[in-house]
Amino acid sequence: MTDTFDFDLFVVGAGSGGVRAARIAAGHGARVAIAEEHRVGGTCVIRGCVPKKLLVYGSHFAEDLDDAAMFGWDVPQKRFDWPVLRDNVLAEVSRIEGAYGETLSNHKVTILKTRAVLTGPNSLRLDDGRTVTAGKILLAPGARPVLPEIPGVEHAITSNEVFHLEQMPRRIVIVGGGYIANEFAGIFHQFGAHVTIVNRSDTILRGYDEQIVDRLVKISLAKGIDFRFNAGFSAIEKQEDGSLLCRMKGCDDIEADEVLFAIGRQPNTEGLGLEELGVALSDRGAVKVDDQYRSSVPSVFAVGDVTDRIQLTPVAIREGHAFADTQFGGKPCVVDYHAIPSAVFSHPPIGAVGLTEGEAKNQLGVIRTYTSDFRPMKNVLAGRNERALYKMIVDEGSDKVVGLHMIGPDAPEILQAAAIAVKAGLTKADFDSTLALHPSMAEELVLMR
Ligand code: NDP
Repeated sequence: MTDTFDFDLFVVGAGSGGVRAARIAAGHGARVAIAEEHRVGGTCVIRGCVPKKLLVYGSHFAEDLDDAAMFGWDVPQKRFDWPVLRDNVLAEVSRIEGAYGETLSNHKVTILKTRAVLTGPNSLRLDDGRTVTAGKILLAPGARPVLPEIPGVEHAITSNEVFHLEQMPRRIVIVGGGYIANEFAGIFHQFGAHVTIVNRSDTILRGYDEQIVDRLVKISLAKGIDFRFNAGFSAIEKQEDGSLLCRMKGCDDIEADEVLFAIGRQPNTEGLGLEELGVALSDRGAVKVDDQYRSSVPSVFAVGDVTDRIQLTPVAIREGHAFADTQFGGKPCVVDYHAIPSAVFSHPPIGAVGLTEGEAKNQLGVIRTYTSDFRPMKNVLAGRNERALYKMIVDEGSDKVVGLHMIGPDAPEILQAAAIAVKAGLTKADFDSTLALHPSMAEELVLMR
């Protein structure tokens, strides 16, 4: 590291990937600056995973309070106050934002609350016109929600706005069939809104095991969430009473109080000076990188959602860490993308790791599948008719468990631990030889025959 430049590393974007890279590089002795034009913490902390999970917790009380009676609890009155939850969640987000800032400061990372635009392979221009130089530049500006080009789209919201709603809508249309759509369908439904999911095909949660997705659709329908498959929008009209009229293609028009688009996210690469500098971008505007996160310009790197590969916080964090260790810690390392666990925090939630049944058949040929379709003990006593479904995919040749897919209470919590076994390549026999922890839902994982 030399004094030729103002900094050894300049990070653009203080989200999950950028903050981790900055902190680890600084720990290795690098002089690091990080620029953030919005808030430290990025999508995950400010308008993603963190506030979403807190809303999931908040929304779960609706069913818990309903179920309480069978467990002997007399809850005389239940009334949900959205502004209370919203403001508490936003306050928690601010607390974590502060903690992130402190961590960076403690590691002597210079935080610049500004947009930074690349002007050369080692230089950037800040909002105040200042130019700074750095030996290496890491792009970690993340991604943003996509909005379609339809008349009246300005009346709709995305996951950026959803945490700040003035009031709980009575009716909400959620567009898309992915993570955000299914998670917020559960949240809004539990808060008492009528939810309609509009999806362009008849497949939701593409990439998840079909049987598990099918169970989520059935449970969602039973709860009262509506679906419009093979449908799309032609326009959104604001009516005199403030409500929205969704002019639809493929289904009848729908009236709603809010329309939430959750149709994917696109990399934040516009206006960063990347094209001018010759940083190669994909058709979707993502920064193309090699396995060391290096772009086509050797001093410019990128991690996280801006590379448009696996849009998950833990992936961005791992990538940021690997980048910093490799470039500044003398510890070259690459991220292992095999068997990444994932979850959908729907109601009930889904957890998955490894191959789906379809993928396993294509890739491995002969496989065995095991399922456990059960009604959790708590649901039985509560009189709740929801069944959990666990599914295990085993490679016939090696007996290795190559996929685990679960829907049911706490599925993501259980899946995280089970993912260690799948990642380690443990066999069905290893699962079978493990004694059950009784009574639990997780014990089904070692009891499938
Ligand atoms: P997803 O990629 O999960 O899903 C997008 C959905 O929108 C799909 O159903 C897709 O359909 C549909 N779609 C795509 N383009 C259009 C279009 N032009 N018109 C109509 N429908 C369209 O995106 P999300 O917005 O839900 O989430 C963004 C990313 O954020 C996710 O990919 C995920 O990585 C991350 N995330 C992760 C969470 C978690 O880990 N729990 C939670 C929330 C977000 P089709 O299948 O046909 O393409």
